[in-house]
Amino acid sequence: MITHQYDVLIVGAGGAGLRAALEIPEGFSCAVLSKVFPTRSHTGAAQGGIGAALGNEEEDSWEWHMFDTVKGSDYLGDQEAIEIMTKDASRAIIELEHMGMPFSRTPEGKIAQRRFGGHTRPEDPSDPDSKHIAVKRSCYSADRTGHVMLHTLYENCIKQKVHFFSEFYVTDLIMSGNVCAGIVAMDIATSEVHIFHAKAVMLATGGYGRVFRITSNAHAGTGDGFSLVYNNGLPLQDMEFVQFHPTGLWKLGILISEAARGEGGILLNNKGERFMERYAPTVKDLAPRDMVSRAILTEIREGRGFKGSDGTYYVHLDVSHLPKEVIDDKLPEITGFARTYLGVEPTKEPIPIQPTAHYAMGGIPTTPDAEVTKDKKNTKVAGLYAAGEAACVSVHGANRLGTNSLLDLIVFGRRGGKAIAEFIKNTDFAPLPADAAERTLSKIDKVMNSKGSEKVGALRTELQEKMMEKVGIFRNESDLKEMTSEIKSLRERYQNIAIDDKGKTFNTDLIEAIELGSLLDTAEPIIYGALVRQESRGAHSREDFPNRDDKNWLKHTLIFKKDGTPKVDYKTVSITRFQPKERKY
Ligand SMILES: Cc1cc2nc3c(=O)[nH]c(=O)nc-3n(C[C@H](O)[C@H](O)[C@H](O)COP(=O)(O)OP(=O)(O)OC[C@H]3O[C@@H](n4cnc5c(N)ncnc54)[C@H](O)[C@@H]3O)c2cc1C
Repeated sequence: MITHQYDVLIVGAGGAGLRAALEIPEGFSCAVLSKVFPTRSHTGAAQGGIGAALGNEEEDSWEWHMFDTVKGSDYLGDQEAIEIMTKDASRAIIELEHMGMPFSRTPEGKIAQRRFGGHTRPEDPSDPDSKHIAVKRSCYSADRTGHVMLHTLYENCIKQKVHFFSEFYVTDLIMSGNVCAGIVAMDIATSEVHIFHAKAVMLATGGYGRVFRITSNAHAGTGDGFSLVYNNGLPLQDMEFVQFHPTGLWKLGILISEAARGEGGILLNNKGERFMERYAPTVKDLAPRDMVSRAILTEIREGRGFKGSDGTYYVHLDVSHLPKEVIDDKLPEITGFARTYLGVEPTKEPIPIQPTAHYAMGGIPTTPDAEVTKDKKNTKVAGLYAAGEAACVSVHGANRLGTNSLLDLIVFGRRGGKAIAEFIKNTDFAPLPADAAERTLSKIDKVMNSKGSEKVGALRTELQEKMMEKVGIFRNESDLKEMTSEIKSLRERYQNIAIDDKGKTFNTDLIEAIELGSLLDTAEPIIYGALVRQESRGAHSREDFPNRDDKNWLKHTLIFKKDGTPKVDYKTVSITRFQPKERKY
């Protein structure tokens, strides 16, 4: 067995992992492991922008950004963390610019900003209680913001001599008592298992969109980080809050950024009505995502959607009235997607869209310094950190606002990196347990030698379709209860999977089999979280409990695996500046 030793290991080369790596000082070794080539991480697919109250195009302030984020989160976001993020946002953007990130510009050369769902300012800036209207807060690089951000961070990591293990699949954490002492990983090229010994490990493994059939996420978005934590007896927080983005390309789920609506695009039903006027009279199509996704589904349920040739439904996103320069300069990528994948010409006709599973609001609980915590008292797990979409700090609460994820990555990635830099100065390597790689070796051995009758692809599709149908935008007790037994049976069937490729070189069958395990591990706390939370808040909408219930449910859920079954605990929400109010737009 090959054993490596690094002061710091970062799992994941998206925005969060790379930003953290840049904080590890000279004199300490740092390696980043990624199952895909670093610049293929999902951050590179982000389109619309990164939020900061720079005020370059319209008057703005971090307090308004904070208020919008708290309100957007349906008051479940931790206000201490939200304040840190929104206050630090402008500095973080300028820092990215200094690292070389090419932002789009205003005519006078400032970083350009545009409107995005749920981002507002008081119409009369001197009166915070006046009507809130949409504000230009999203800093962007056309509709390729994540792409240029990821490449900028990667170039800076190369300059700083961060070591990369590319196409290494991390399969387990190494826990030495209560301390994280490293990770186990498989080199995808050779199927060889390696042990990585470290003083500190950061999980920056991104989201789990692939738990659902229709998703905007990359194929690698299989929730591996959640599974690593859950299988080591640590909790996952607020997993029931799954963001469905309103505008995925019909049938495919490929994202059409909110920037399309930020630039003036509108949603239309089969009567040609701009239906968002009825659901969110003030901000209309720029309401937050949970509300717009529910509105689309309600239109469809009430017979005002379009029925496709395959019997599934969609509504229209219309950008055909926008000036050609706006489409060519600000939305080139996404209008190209409509042409390529649906054969639709967005300058002339509307784009068929449907909601698509997009983002994990919940995740691995952390402090605002990205330290992983293991209970309702926020007791830290020494040596273990998490940042980015895999983490739940929690700045997004029950519903994330667009542009706040890229911001989350660079603010909390950096803070986590700084916290690690301090931690490793005064810490020695914890001893490696002798059986560190045992679970991984036996898992690989079992899959490779199985004569079982279940196929990975078929089981995965079944999981994804059932999650879509029963744990999607609208939920109810009977569907969720059914899903608790479904997931048990899918897990049992998973024990009986077999793969065709028995080779050792780039065995993608093997990788997909392991990823299916992560998908199942991740789906379980989503289902249980959704079942226990008997209210509707943000993206979690229970038909049998249609109202928000602050008296009983203004709290975070923590789901642990104990003796093989999920157990629930609760944690308080940090409320500092803004008391919960009804959420209207
Ligand atoms: C299409 C799309 C558009 C978006 N647009 C925006 C936007 O405009 N603004 C915004 O704020 N947000 C946007 N988001 C959300 C945002 O992009 C993501 O939440 C964010 O980029 C996640 O970054 P991350 O660093 O947490 O992880 P990711 O960028 O997802 O990277 C995860 C990393 O973990 C690695 N990894 C995972 N599992 C393993 C494993 N087992 N072993 C080794 N490595 C592993 C992967 O290889 C990868 O390097 C968008 C998301 C999508 C899908």
